[in-house]
Amino acid sequence: MVGKMTIANRFPVEDLPDLPHARQLKAGFPWLTFDDALEAEFRRTHFDAALTHIRVNLSLAITITIAFSAMDAMVLGPVLNRIPSMIHMLLVIPILLIALAASFSRHRHRLYPPLALIGATILGLSMGAIEVIASLGGVSILFPCLMMTTIFIYFMGGLIFYHALMSNIIVMFAYLGVGTALQLPGREFGYNALAIVAINLFGASVVYMHERTSRMRFLEAALLQEMVALDGLTGIQNRRMFDQHIQRAWQQGVRKRERVAVLLIDIDCFKDYNDRYGHQAGDECLRAVAVSLSQCARRPLDFVARYGGEEFAVVLYEASREYVAEVLTRIQRSVAELNVPHEASHVASRLTVSIGAAFVLPGADRTYEGLIQLADEALYTAKEQGRNQVVVMEAEYQTLRTGRFDKRRAQRAG
Ligand code: GH3
Ligand code: MG
Ligand code: MG
Repeated sequence: MVGKMTIANRFPVEDLPDLPHARQLKAGFPWLTFDDALEAEFRRTHFDAALTHIRVNLSLAITITIAFSAMDAMVLGPVLNRIPSMIHMLLVIPILLIALAASFSRHRHRLYPPLALIGATILGLSMGAIEVIASLGGVSILFPCLMMTTIFIYFMGGLIFYHALMSNIIVMFAYLGVGTALQLPGREFGYNALAIVAINLFGASVVYMHERTSRMRFLEAALLQEMVALDGLTGIQNRRMFDQHIQRAWQQGVRKRERVAVLLIDIDCFKDYNDRYGHQAGDECLRAVAVSLSQCARRPLDFVARYGGEEFAVVLYEASREYVAEVLTRIQRSVAELNVPHEASHVASRLTVSIGAAFVLPGADRTYEGLIQLADEALYTAKEQGRNQVVVMEAEYQTLRTGRFDKRRAQRAG
């Protein structure tokens, strides 16, 4: 049934990187369930996407119920309609109203799904009961309302496949059981019984396919988002994410008056490394450095990315001077511990890095580009002073006036 999994019917999932959504795609989901964390995320997304639709459908259902209860009053007459009208007023409309209200609640993600499951089942049973009461009273034309309710539960109430199926199966068996027990008029009941089985088969089949497609799309979209964030070679965040992150960190730093540090880490004499050991060995080396950098800055707000080529960037938000110093020491130590031989280096016999760090308090009149520029100058200085060392610039923040560091100058410059 599942066949070979592909993304957008094109790319085989075997070729995908090892990311949570890709793992789920590889594992497949013939039973329409994901791993726990993804399942919750999917249901939330799925529900949010359908929310407006669900509200419109519930409002429609309320209007239509009112119209049909007026119709029932005419068709059934006051005596026969006594219980059906009570069912409409005391069960059907309140359930639809409660569901509508729940869809507006702040806790709707938690509230709505169980409420919808219970509500839909009571709704279906109510409509079945009205049909049976009318049939026993000699009016056998109310069955279409039960069919409409079945359709509503499958397609319009925002229930996931299993909930809609469970609810409708209960309603179907209740109708078949009660109808048989009460010996409803044979010709109509036999026909209706076949019809309710058929609509459940159609409904379940369509909703299954629909939810499968939604789940597939959910995984593909999430995977795409994960993949555009990562650097293809090293698997850490890429330049695009760095640009986004530094802007956000800067703005937050301005608002909360928190310091931001940017560390630019550049491998020393890497061209010579490639020339000596080959480009592939160079790639391996970049991966190894990326992994150890990720392990050096692991607080929730720490951020590590490949900045480009053999340069990496670390952003530390809300960091003390001590923490910045600690991360710098850790980076130097962990690169040393990689112990990668580099005979072509002009600096040492092992692979080394130079680090330029800028540590500033973001000002509203400044731009984040200036922070990067300061880190870049620090890195340049570290290289000039002989490589394999750290230069931190902090006080220079006040004096630096070049480039786009000053927001007003940047704006004037265009
Ligand atoms: P310095 O000590 O001044 O930083 O010298 P360097 O040789 O490290 O710097 P340079 O900018 O001269 O050269 C960077 C080298 O990094 C050149 C390029 O081939 C290599 N490089 C950039 N990206 C990749 C990559 O993805 N894989 C490999 N293997 N090498 C890369
Ligand atoms: Mg270099
Ligand atoms: Mg470089």
